[in-house]
Amino acid sequence: MKVGILQVGQVAPHVLAVVEDGLTKTFPDTSVSVIREPLPVPLNAFDKKRNQYNSTIILNEVRVYAAKSHDFHRVLGVVDVDIFTSGLNYVFGEAYTSGNAGLISLWRLKPEFYKDKPDMALYLLRAQKEAIHEVGHTLNVRHCPRSLCVMHFSNSIFDTDKKQNLLCDECYLQTAIAIANLG
Ligand SMILES: [Zn+2]
Ligand SMILES: [Zn+2]
Repeated sequence: MKVGILQVGQVAPHVLAVVEDGLTKTFPDTSVSVIREPLPVPLNAFDKKRNQYNSTIILNEVRVYAAKSHDFHRVLGVVDVDIFTSGLNYVFGEAYTSGNAGLISLWRLKPEFYKDKPDMALYLLRAQKEAIHEVGHTLNVRHCPRSLCVMHFSNSIFDTDKKQNLLCDECYLQTAIAIANLG
C-alpha cells in the first residue's frame, strides 16, 4: 500500500516524520511518504460559533485530493486545528471506512491542551496512534473491543493513552487482507 501524508495548513515537519514512521512500521507491504505541498485549511470548514473546524469538510478535501492523485492508495490529512463532527464536541480524527482518505488533528494531542506540562515524546506517540487508527478505518477495520488495540475507540485522551500504537492480531490480519486486495 502506498500512503501519502498530506498536511492541511501548517504542521511541524518532525510530527509528520514520526507519523510516517509509525504507519510504515505498522502496516504490511506499505510505503509512506510526506507530500511536500500542503493543502490550505478550507475556509468554509471554520464554524464561528464553535470556534472549531468541521472535520467532515476537511476530510472531504483530502478525499478529493486522494482521488486526483495517482500516487497513493490512501491519503492521511494532518491538521493542527481543533475539529468536530456533527454530534460530537470534538474528534481526534475521522476517516472513510474502506475509503481513500483519513484525517487526524494534532490539536488535542498536546499535553498543554490539558494543562499538563509539554511532553514531546507523549505528543508524538499520540499522533502515531491516531494516524494508525484512521488509516486502519480506511482499510475497513472497525472499532476493536480490546482496549489496548490501536483500533479501540478513543472517547478521550485517556483512551488514547491507554491503548498501544499497535494493531491486535485480529485487526492486523484484517489490514493485511485489505492491503493484499489493493493489488
Ligand atoms: Zn475510530
Ligand atoms: Zn484490534
